[in-house]
Amino acid sequence: MIPAPFDYVRPSSLDEACRILGAADPAEGDVKALAGGQSLLPLLRLRLSYPSVLVDLGRLEELRGVQDRGDHVFIGALTTHDEVLRSPVVREHAPLVALATATVADPAVRHRGTFGGSLAHADPAGDLPAVALALDCVLVTASGAGGREIPAAGFFTGYLETALEPGEVLAGVRVPKLGDGWGFHYEKFHRTAQAWAVVGVAAAVRLEAGTIAQARIGLTNMGPAPVRARTVETALRGVTPPAAGAGADGGRDPVRDACAWADEGTAPPADLHAKPDYRRHLARVLTHRAVRAALS
Ligand code: FAD
Repeated sequence: MIPAPFDYVRPSSLDEACRILGAADPAEGDVKALAGGQSLLPLLRLRLSYPSVLVDLGRLEELRGVQDRGDHVFIGALTTHDEVLRSPVVREHAPLVALATATVADPAVRHRGTFGGSLAHADPAGDLPAVALALDCVLVTASGAGGREIPAAGFFTGYLETALEPGEVLAGVRVPKLGDGWGFHYEKFHRTAQAWAVVGVAAAVRLEAGTIAQARIGLTNMGPAPVRARTVETALRGVTPPAAGAGADGGRDPVRDACAWADEGTAPPADLHAKPDYRRHLARVLTHRAVRAALS
């Protein structure tokens, strides 16, 4: 289908972008930021979204790139998935971001789609919101009022909804470096290679003297918004993983037992690909796989 008519502007500064987005009159239609267009343009073509103005952020070089800032990695909102994947700073200091980004779509989408766009779009089926939750990332915004720092836990407010206010642009994301002793994994179940997740699990786990001291779990596609799975995190704390291979024969594995809490408090959707019960089953199985992989 062809999108409904809209005006197109391409500001050359962040101030100008915020001014245009902030000056929008809701009575005259929505004004939307455009980043890589990989989610927004399909919505326009399907006429599920019909903004009156698109504000293309593409010229705002200050929103691009990855920086090592000591205790955290800063990823500019306009950094493409491909640039994130190729960044040695991300690979070394934010490996969970790299692992999940590698599973996003295909190379064509990864060359245009952006890290910030994935978070601002807040699709519960997207791979990166679950990672931002698991890592306690901080989302940094810019606006005419000066901008804010929003913890990931407060950013995703509903289905395709975020805490961003009209006139506010996501400028970048602070990804904390978790330090020594942590292991990471992103486990994604998809029906075909390069497809969206039926369910995904982002896991960060820290061992101390052979026992799980901390676990952080984010879930993809297990509710109307991305989910931080706190109950399973609590269940995993204090668990001593069995030696490699133990539990594989169906014998007792306390990590698997704890991961049975992975779907607690979730409200998974029903769609063409899976019913809620199947998603719950996947969440438990994939969390076990993700935690085991993170531990190894
Ligand atoms: P856009 O489409 O430009 O924008 C998306 C939304 O975010 C819009 O509402 C826009 O206004 C807003 N926005 C964007 N940037 C900002 C900003 N800086 N500040 C404020 N608001 C902003 N994603 C996955 O996670 N996993 C997948 O497996 C996957 N598969 C895909 C397969 C296909 C075929 C396609 C087309 C997309 C797929 N995606 C997948 C989505 C992809 O990751 C997109 O890149 C991402 O969802 C949106 O990023 P974007 O830069 O394209 O944003």
